[in-house]
Amino acid sequence: MDDCLFCKIIRGDIPSKRIYEDDRVYAFYDIDPKAPVHFLVIPKKHIATLNDLAESDEALTGHMLFTAQRIANSLGCEQGFRVVMNCNDMGGQTVYHIHMHVLGQRQLDWPPG
Ligand code: C5P
Repeated sequence: MDDCLFCKIIRGDIPSKRIYEDDRVYAFYDIDPKAPVHFLVIPKKHIATLNDLAESDEALTGHMLFTAQRIANSLGCEQGFRVVMNCNDMGGQTVYHIHMHVLGQRQLDWPPG
């Protein structure tokens, strides 16, 4: 998608602090961190929202989750971390390319705001 912010990050048109990349996913530090560790895992395939997921995306989203777990542990979050996906405006989504927020290295409250 030409005008998608995260597609631009994947292409390198917009800079990001990359942590990990493979043929299916890209992970980078959130530009406005809400915890000492806060990174995003995004699919290279453009999917606007969780509501746009197809059954054929099951393996991809599982790979995103496994990537989140591996990176979180490599960044010292073994004691605990949180994975969040916001869907649409009501769910707090601001960038319309699905992404997993991974937050850790501080005590996280529940429920979130
Ligand atoms: O869930 P939501 O859509 O609100 O999250 C988008 C996230 O993308 C925000 O946490 C924001 O800080 C992050 N972001 C980023 N780099 C950009 C633009 C946004 O990390 N260039």
